[in-house]
Amino acid sequence: MATPIREIVLTNSMSGKKEKLHTLKPGKLTLYSCGPTVYGFIHIGNLRAALVSDLFFRYLKKAGYAVTYVRNYTDVDDKIIKRAHEENTTLEEITKKYILEVEKDYSSVGMIDPTHKTTVTAHIPHIVQMIEKILKNGHAYVVEGEVLFSIQSFKGYGKLSHKNIDELMAGARVEVSEKKKNPLDFTLWKPAKSGEPAWDSPWGKGRPGWHIECSAMSSRWLGDQIDLHHGGEDLAFPHHENEIAQSEAASGKSPFVSYWLHNAFVNLSNEKMSKSLGNVMLARDFITKYGAEVSRYLLLSPHYRSIIDFNEETLEHALVALHRVYEAKAKALDLRGAKIGASNPNAEALWNLFVTSCEKTRDTMAAHLANDFNVPGCLADFFVLIRDFNRTLASRGAENTPGALKGAAALICIMEDEVGGILGIGKSEPKSMLKELTRIRSERSIGDGTVRPADEEIQQLIQARANARQSKQFEEADRIRKDLESRGVRIKDNAGGTTWEYI
Ligand SMILES: [Zn+2]
Repeated sequence: MATPIREIVLTNSMSGKKEKLHTLKPGKLTLYSCGPTVYGFIHIGNLRAALVSDLFFRYLKKAGYAVTYVRNYTDVDDKIIKRAHEENTTLEEITKKYILEVEKDYSSVGMIDPTHKTTVTAHIPHIVQMIEKILKNGHAYVVEGEVLFSIQSFKGYGKLSHKNIDELMAGARVEVSEKKKNPLDFTLWKPAKSGEPAWDSPWGKGRPGWHIECSAMSSRWLGDQIDLHHGGEDLAFPHHENEIAQSEAASGKSPFVSYWLHNAFVNLSNEKMSKSLGNVMLARDFITKYGAEVSRYLLLSPHYRSIIDFNEETLEHALVALHRVYEAKAKALDLRGAKIGASNPNAEALWNLFVTSCEKTRDTMAAHLANDFNVPGCLADFFVLIRDFNRTLASRGAENTPGALKGAAALICIMEDEVGGILGIGKSEPKSMLKELTRIRSERSIGDGTVRPADEEIQQLIQARANARQSKQFEEADRIRKDLESRGVRIKDNAGGTTWEYI
């Protein structure tokens, strides 16, 4: 029996409103996402866009759709040609190298492969064919080997960015060229300068303009009309606006895309990340420093349409949140190996209540995701569940009972399916992950610049405090506790010994 498909609501940038998802073919869904230009390492803003499309892909499949997902690499472009000249190498060498590097980043944060990964250079015949159709339909013109799209010929130019042509001209940095009939006309095919990579075409040797690649590749793999198109919000104009013009002008069918989805930027300490300002955080550096899971949590836990401000506070928040997840996972897994005692009615009742709330939470988490991929709502419910698990486990006589085993299994199940399967979070082995998270936090300072002590020093101080207490030097014991607290460490005396946590 086919999985029933859940009703999904999406914010369509075209209407600016939330709309119910209806796909062109029942049960099937086509998704295109604009990928990076490969001439260097990607930054965390690029990684966010890729992770967001990975989330869409995972979730839509889980929701029951047969998804065909295409993501491209722009492997011919002015910037790549410039880089190849600077490094005294070829375009192919540069793009081959950086496609590999980008893929390393993608796989290290656990992204799954799209149905088709495409490159421009592998689609030149499709691009040429599409340009020929656009010309034939009267939406483009040729000037000295250059093919330009005529935006005046295309009714509805500006419909995605909700602007008319005059407003767009006033707001855009338009290239003034004698060749152009209208300053907003854009290049579909440009003639090659000497020394540049070039392909044969009916208009002479040259290469495609940037925008045509996505129109050609989506039509090649997904058809003239597609369900979802995703990209970073900076691509809405002119890139996506131009994609609409090209695709609809070539096929004569409208709309090219049923739902446009755009994710917001990542800012660094309240400033837009920009190469020219020099404030760019490379994905590779970030993943190396904080690990895959922290990167994934930080970039996926806010709603995809909200700006992420990457700063010390958001990082700390991600570290604390993941710590809570793994602490609960460690406890739940420990229960599996623990000696289970006899059942008692009080414990059974508490655990039954917890298992019921797991079932309910599974539904509410799924409902959040169906509501425009509301990850923050989904995670908030999950953290309430973790709190309930900890509380139930701490109730008198509830530990190591048959009910506790059931409760742990229910929590692990949600962790693996919803949180792990869709968000890709919480899938690691908990003890080593907790150690790693603690190490990262020990190397970070708290608010006023104080650096937290590491595990080894904390253990020594806990021992010194225990010795002081044994020899009745209570003032000294208290001083050690206060000293630790001022450096961001809270200690707790339990029946089994003293434990600690970062505040
Ligand atoms: Zn694109």
